[in-house]
Amino acid sequence: MLDADFFRRWMTATAALVDREAERLTALDSPIGDADHGSNLQRGFTAVTAALEKEAPDTPGAVLILAGRQLISTVGGASGPLYGTLLRRTGKALADAAEVSPEQLAEALRTGVDAVRTLGGAAPGDKTMIDALVPAVDALGESFAAARDAADEGARATTPMQARKGRASYLGERSIGHQDPGATSSALVMTALAEAAGE
Ligand code: ADP
Ligand code: MG
Ligand code: MG
Repeated sequence: MLDADFFRRWMTATAALVDREAERLTALDSPIGDADHGSNLQRGFTAVTAALEKEAPDTPGAVLILAGRQLISTVGGASGPLYGTLLRRTGKALADAAEVSPEQLAEALRTGVDAVRTLGGAAPGDKTMIDALVPAVDALGESFAAARDAADEGARATTPMQARKGRASYLGERSIGHQDPGATSSALVMTALAEAAGE
């Protein structure tokens, strides 16, 4: 079973990975965006870890709702409301359980990803974070490691895609040949989840 501490570890591991990979995320956002994805998420997840330390939420749902709220209020870019919605809606779906099973997390995360799809209007193949998140959630029933690998593969598969949502879509065909920064950061979020689970 996964308790509030597990979810805290997931968020702090995400913050650490975002810190480590911030330059790469911003570099990916340079040819097909506005070169701020790494700094956007760094600001957001720094606020997440600070809030989690200060408020010490004691259920899985409360950890994710607090984290999501921080992302929405501190990240200016498109990714803030999208990741914020992902975490908040996943947290809401976990309600006030003190512990949840991996299956319950997989189901809740599916709700969260669906909310991101509704908010952003992106479908698989549009070259966004959805291209990493959907395969990850599909694989989560198997294991955390499988979800991490699926997200990674999903992120790499965005390279030949033409962007249909977000800033990169303004480039039309010129968006082809670059890996999507948001799909790449989603793979980091799933890597952090596998780390928190010790996989
Ligand atoms: P901004 O584009 O506002 O500068 P970021 O650079 O932080 O925001 O985030 C860009 C990423 O957000 C993209 O790489 C993409 O994965 C994701 N994104 C943008 N628009 C959408 C959308 N409508 N649906 C899903 N993801 C999106
Ligand atoms: Mg950007
Ligand atoms: Mg921006």
